[in-house]
Amino acid sequence: ESDEIKNRLNKFISDSGLQNDVQVVATGCFGFCEKGPIVKVLPDNTFYVEVKPGDAEEIIKEHVVKGRPVKRLLYTDPTTAKHISDSKGMDFYKKQIRIALKNCGFINPENIDEYIARNGYEAMGKCLTEMSPEDVIKEVKDSGLRGRGGGGFPTGLKWEITRNVENEQKYVVCNADEGDPGAFMDRSILEGDPHSVIEAMAICGYCIGADKGLVYIRAEYPLAIQRLKIAIKQAEEYGLIGDNILGTGFNFNLELRYGAGAFVCGEETALIHSMEGLRGEPTFKPPFPSVSGYMGKPTNVNNVETFANIPVIINKGATWFSNIGSDKSKGTKVFALAGKINNVGLIEVPMGTTLREVIYDIGGGIKDGKAFKAVQTGGPSGGCLTKDMLDIPIDYDNLLASGSMMGSGGMIVMDEDDCMVSIAKFYLEFTLEESCGKCTPCRVGNKRLHEILEKITEGKGEEEDIERLNELSMVIKDTALCGLGQTSPNPVLSTILNFGEEYKAHVIDGK
Ligand code: SF4
Repeated sequence: ESDEIKNRLNKFISDSGLQNDVQVVATGCFGFCEKGPIVKVLPDNTFYVEVKPGDAEEIIKEHVVKGRPVKRLLYTDPTTAKHISDSKGMDFYKKQIRIALKNCGFINPENIDEYIARNGYEAMGKCLTEMSPEDVIKEVKDSGLRGRGGGGFPTGLKWEITRNVENEQKYVVCNADEGDPGAFMDRSILEGDPHSVIEAMAICGYCIGADKGLVYIRAEYPLAIQRLKIAIKQAEEYGLIGDNILGTGFNFNLELRYGAGAFVCGEETALIHSMEGLRGEPTFKPPFPSVSGYMGKPTNVNNVETFANIPVIINKGATWFSNIGSDKSKGTKVFALAGKINNVGLIEVPMGTTLREVIYDIGGGIKDGKAFKAVQTGGPSGGCLTKDMLDIPIDYDNLLASGSMMGSGGMIVMDEDDCMVSIAKFYLEFTLEESCGKCTPCRVGNKRLHEILEKITEGKGEEEDIERLNELSMVIKDTALCGLGQTSPNPVLSTILNFGEEYKAHVIDGK
């Protein structure tokens, strides 16, 4: 539909004889998916929502030619019924700070000049010409940036560890294998701002001493792949990646590797095996990839969102970045807000923002006026948070302490009609599908967990089954080989803890 809108906008621009003055630019995601497709008219910054191809004529003939905005396409505030013409005035954007998403919705991701015009490749230039690798690593460490893929490991420290391992050949890997149900953070960054990831990978290569970067990306992300390929080609043509970058003698080349959408390949060792053409199975750590990774060489793996933060940290400084966020979690986090919420979309908020702010102020509350019941963070590895936890500031440590986790940023909201036992079963079904089967606790244990959950949801459960779920979950957590298995019982454990009465109701009522 967006392509059709673009074509029609171009047609009416030509019909009005404005083809030399007005340009239609396709951008990446604006984040406000609920109200898409979105058309923004510059320079007056008018933000049109839910645009249809049939609206193109009015936008050009009324707004662009006569300067009269099309009122019916402006966003209408549900509480005041007032039209809002500018994204700055909309609650959806008010509490957001955009660092990783700074260019998404602003630039044409297929045009390197637009990236450069917004300070693109300035950070890389600064690193290569004014800073030593140690200086850059110190800046990243001082910023407090932690891995956005889920683990939250300090990024600067990871770079330093890989730098300190001596080897002629090292690699930078970008994990773009986003696999959580309902998550689309990394895809949107790659579709909307691929150069930020390329620039950051080159900076990382400079720091750790690697001349080769690999992006491991899901083959199911064709637009992200296409835009990344175009961006790599343009960066090569501009001499911003390749040999002797900016005449500094630093070489950095990039290649893509495709994943087939296996969730377990988000785990670093499985991802590396998959890139090597082997089965995407995790192996025991140590050795960590920083010592022995791709092809047995020291390898630094970061995810897309982590990399997207790097150019801004270098340009604006560690102090600027570390002033955003909470005590131990600095900066912002991108979340894919989905489920029973009014404003489904992609958001970026400072760490420390509360769930209430995310769900009610940004998300616009629960659909159809229903009551909030729970929110699942951290995807299948995370847990359910209840209404008593709405005022918890979101950061790595608070989410862990509340029985969930940050994960990569999926956030699925549930309302009063959702059965939490069925939700736990849904996530476990996903894990069962995605388990690589290498170790028994995950392969067999999760199957048994699922059988018990099925029995309970069919009304055939006994009270002892709830205790069995608890015990078996703890065994799986303690004994599974990799993160996927170790976290797979989390949705079961957190729903038993927070919604135990629903399990009991199934068992007692036999429904
Ligand atoms: Fe494979 Fe699961 Fe074992 Fe991880 S925990 S190695 S996914 S079977």
